[in-house]
Amino acid sequence: MTSLYQEQREADGRTETGETLVEVNDLKTYYEDGGLLGGDPVKAVDGVTFDIQRGETLGLVGESGCGKSTLGRTLMQLETATGGEVRYEGTDITSLSGSDLKDWRRNVQMVFQDPDGSLNDRMTVGEIVMEPLNVHNWKTPEQRRARVRELLETVGLSEEHYYRYPFQFSGGQRQRVGIARALALEPDFLVLDEPVSALDVSVQAKILNLLEDLQEEFGLTYLLIAHDLAVVEHICDRVAVMYLGNIMEIGPTDAIFDDPANPYTNSLLSAIPEPDPTLEKNRITLRGTPPSPRDPPSGCVFSTRCPLKIRPPAYRDLDEDVWQGIEIFREVLREREDVAKSVRERFRDLLGMETEGLDAEEVVEEAFGDLDVPSDVQQHVDSAIEHVRRDDLQSAREELREEFGSVCEREEPELLTVGDAGRQSHCHRHREDYQGTQSYIAEHGYER
Ligand code: SF4
Repeated sequence: MTSLYQEQREADGRTETGETLVEVNDLKTYYEDGGLLGGDPVKAVDGVTFDIQRGETLGLVGESGCGKSTLGRTLMQLETATGGEVRYEGTDITSLSGSDLKDWRRNVQMVFQDPDGSLNDRMTVGEIVMEPLNVHNWKTPEQRRARVRELLETVGLSEEHYYRYPFQFSGGQRQRVGIARALALEPDFLVLDEPVSALDVSVQAKILNLLEDLQEEFGLTYLLIAHDLAVVEHICDRVAVMYLGNIMEIGPTDAIFDDPANPYTNSLLSAIPEPDPTLEKNRITLRGTPPSPRDPPSGCVFSTRCPLKIRPPAYRDLDEDVWQGIEIFREVLREREDVAKSVRERFRDLLGMETEGLDAEEVVEEAFGDLDVPSDVQQHVDSAIEHVRRDDLQSAREELREEFGSVCEREEPELLTVGDAGRQSHCHRHREDYQGTQSYIAEHGYER
């Protein structure tokens, strides 16, 4: 029987012609807090929009916990989207269910990070690779066995491996089994979730080469989720950079790696080791840890850590160290309020020491040291300290936000096109009215 999904594909004539294979619009995946204390949902993916062209490899990068795996799993419908849509060849697959969903799933498969965990050790390799064929009742048992033997050969294994068990294989071989299983139903689209991060470096290259060869041979489209930026640079056509459930920048791999436009991308890429150890690298260390996805910052999600946050006009010429002192003080208050709000929130420290139970003067002393703090700044800092003394963290934060708050905290940046390489970035700095407004950090590629 032809499913609704198939009918729609055929009626729309999109099966072979569409350039855009996957279109993601304002996608959100939130997890409700089922704990005793209730609370806000965890916003793992918080309104992302992008597309994936047929035949390309899109890399998805970002620090651990930024939501990239949840995004991959939501595209596969392994997680339920809270809002937005995922259009696959024009059909919104977030609304599919039953046989339509099962039918669509033939076209998309996932390769997991941990080949050990994703293969059932009690099944032979032949049974593992055949499993999706059985689930979808693909052709006859004899044809399935022939298909499995063909797949083993395709991924560089041999017929003799058919009756062996996963534990008899090396990590690289087990990942080959995982790839063979993913290819069984001839999918168009594969989500590769950290496919080589559990493997030795020498094996990583072989698996990446295999994935590239398979892409060419079968015209596959990949979403590659990876924390290893070198892997992404090697294999991806375009890259999307994620932070706290949002895409900060997306564009061609060369453009992003050669000249990142977004301050977050810039700091992330600065962590890649320089192949020539004699060359000095300007590594950007971000202040603190990412905020909780339960309570993301207003405005730009990177605003609590961004080294290039736009300052209010009155403080554009303020000494950089004093400005950083203010930022640290504000961050400590924010984190302390988070801790007060939620006992489950892990306590973090910014100054290399615990801030809970620490008095505000001590934090300020650590943050400003011997710096010459202008009187207008000092006045607001003192006033905030007074609020802290009265245990009124909220007023302290508001006092500082009112005086030192930035457009970056008030307004969510739009996704703007930067340059002519087809790159887009979420940052107010790309707006004409915010270019050249204060001392930029020249080595970050920004003009003064
Ligand atoms: S909008 Fe502001 S805080 Fe966000 S990345 Fe740009 S400069 Fe930094």
